[in-house]
Amino acid sequence: MKISQHQLDLVNDRIRALTASGSFYGKKLEAAGITSVATPEDFEKLPFSEKNDLRDAYPLGLMTAPEEEIVRIHSSSGTTGKPVIIPYTQKDVDDWAIMFARCYETAGITKKDRIQITPGYGLWTAGIGFQNGCERLGAMAVPMGPGNTDKQLQMMQDMETTVICSTSSYALLLAEEIAKRGIKDKIHLKKGVIGSERWSKKMRERISTELGIELYDIYGLTEIYGPGIGINCKYDTGMHYWDDYIYLEIIDPVTGKVLPDGEMGEIVITTLVKEGAPLIRYRTHDLSRIIPGKCECGREYPRIDVIMGRTDDMMKIKGVNVFPSQIEEILGSFTEISSEYQIRISHLDGKDTMRIYVETSGSYDFEDVARRIAEKVKSRIGFTPIVKVVEIGVLPRSMKKTARVIDERYDEN
Ligand code: ZN
Repeated sequence: MKISQHQLDLVNDRIRALTASGSFYGKKLEAAGITSVATPEDFEKLPFSEKNDLRDAYPLGLMTAPEEEIVRIHSSSGTTGKPVIIPYTQKDVDDWAIMFARCYETAGITKKDRIQITPGYGLWTAGIGFQNGCERLGAMAVPMGPGNTDKQLQMMQDMETTVICSTSSYALLLAEEIAKRGIKDKIHLKKGVIGSERWSKKMRERISTELGIELYDIYGLTEIYGPGIGINCKYDTGMHYWDDYIYLEIIDPVTGKVLPDGEMGEIVITTLVKEGAPLIRYRTHDLSRIIPGKCECGREYPRIDVIMGRTDDMMKIKGVNVFPSQIEEILGSFTEISSEYQIRISHLDGKDTMRIYVETSGSYDFEDVARRIAEKVKSRIGFTPIVKVVEIGVLPRSMKKTARVIDERYDEN
């Protein structure tokens, strides 16, 4: 999906605004001698922006509009170091609400819905984004914020909430509580809008079945407005994103090269009309792919796949980029194995090798299961792993996903 002429014009407006303001990125562009881009090829040569750099702009170095036009800031907390502060103009706040209302509409939510909002309100962009989008749509917001499950369930019954907005883990917790308390017949939920993070198909199915609702993944990040820049429609063929507000690329996280549609890589976003803190080619470190072709719903907005993980999780094996989530997804399609697995990567005789350990019960032919898993990995990802099948209970039980992938290649020196 090449950048269009109209999108290029908008990028040039942003470049002009950034340099005129002398903001953090304005100075960077100026130092690199960039004043405008004429072609898609020019655009692909623009330097990336990174969260680590944004921290250097703390507190208000990203501010690109005059201060009297800034109406709000939001902040994304890093796990380490200084937070990132994103200033918003009134137009930015309005644009975000328009995009968010579009998300609700895409999920089939209407003015008649009652939307219970459980993400947090405050410096970060979650709760208030869901709220402004809801009001823009004209639906009724039930602004709960996080926690207090008793109160959540009480309001859900009394207000006859039809839409729940939450994280996947909180949705699961609510589903379990509703089942435990035997109040499912008093719950009116029809849909769930879930902040997009990597969550397994199994978890998704569980929430959807237990609550009897349709689930929608909403995408976004604080640096780029917040949640609300994309969502799946009822055909559930990936998330539509709003290409009148953002331009989205998928790059190889190692080489930085733009990948063709359909290939998995890192999401990079350029804001096309943002005033308070425009970002050009911002690396999200989220992994996904652009889904080629048109959606059955008829919307022209392009689509990305659900988020498959973070670039930090990526492994390179026999020259192929592999993400643990891809292996996990393949293993998840084999009903004869347990949910426990272990992946070991080593470098033997000059070659990278992946060994996958899985568990099954004695009623299956271990060799046959191993062969079928290896074949599926080969056909889906492009290399053949060594698959070892063991009895159920043999693999270590661990809570942490990361402990399931052991890269032994770096132990050798
Ligand atoms: Zn669609």
